[in-house]
Amino acid sequence: MRSAPLGSALAASVLAGLLAAAASCAPPPAESDTFRARRHALVDAIAASGIRDSATLAAMRAVPRHAFVRRRDWPYAYEDRPLPIGEGQTISQPFVVAFMTEAVRARPAMKVLEVGTGSGYQAAVLAEIGCRVYTIEIIRSLADSARVRLERLGYRGVDVRHGDGYQGWPQVAPFDAIMLTAAPDSLPAALVEQLAPGGRIVAPIGAEGEVQSLVLVEKDAAGRTSTRHLLPVRFVPMRKGLR
Ligand code: SAH
Repeated sequence: MRSAPLGSALAASVLAGLLAAAASCAPPPAESDTFRARRHALVDAIAASGIRDSATLAAMRAVPRHAFVRRRDWPYAYEDRPLPIGEGQTISQPFVVAFMTEAVRARPAMKVLEVGTGSGYQAAVLAEIGCRVYTIEIIRSLADSARVRLERLGYRGVDVRHGDGYQGWPQVAPFDAIMLTAAPDSLPAALVEQLAPGGRIVAPIGAEGEVQSLVLVEKDAAGRTSTRHLLPVRFVPMRKGLR
């Protein structure tokens, strides 16, 4: 901001008052307008590539993805690609977040377990839809920062826990949906057990460094599960042992 030389404290306080009045009716900063415009363009592109679920698309229009990445990556926050979030981990590609959120048919009041909190972005998308979210992260520093970030951004109804996702969250099971955002070699049995009848799991399955298969597991009313392949994907591995 340019500052003009002012003769007196009175002039300074009059100017401050005028500026405050102007600020109160001024539009939000240009930067956030740019973010919003880019975010809408990204979600338009995601819709054009086949995501139809209106709850998913509306949530992704609302959640400020840039707030989940490092400041130096803000220029790329609304590009359709994963980005580093520290500790060798990544925030998923937006298209994949949309695809997985649509696949579990996330709806208001659904109880959802996420394994792999990472930045907290996927959890925020689910919370924005109105889901009750339980999310587990194995790296303590990521769990702690995601918890603070979600709180600051005003997301209620998200519990972040530092723990091992292989065990699920038996105290609050069963879940209407379970999303894995790190890839195990095979689907952990505890998670299948913690899925409610009529529920869905979406998970990348496969060995580290290989192309994994994103699968959808559906549990019917009788508790029988069926699994189908949806998409080839590449996620970070689901690891064993707390850090
Ligand atoms: N959903 C995240 C991206 C997750 S990246 C987001 O929206 O930003 C995958 C995350 O899974 C990493 O943070 C990694 O530390 C975590 N992870 C890996 N193995 C895990 C395990 N066994 N239990 C819980 N979290 C795990």
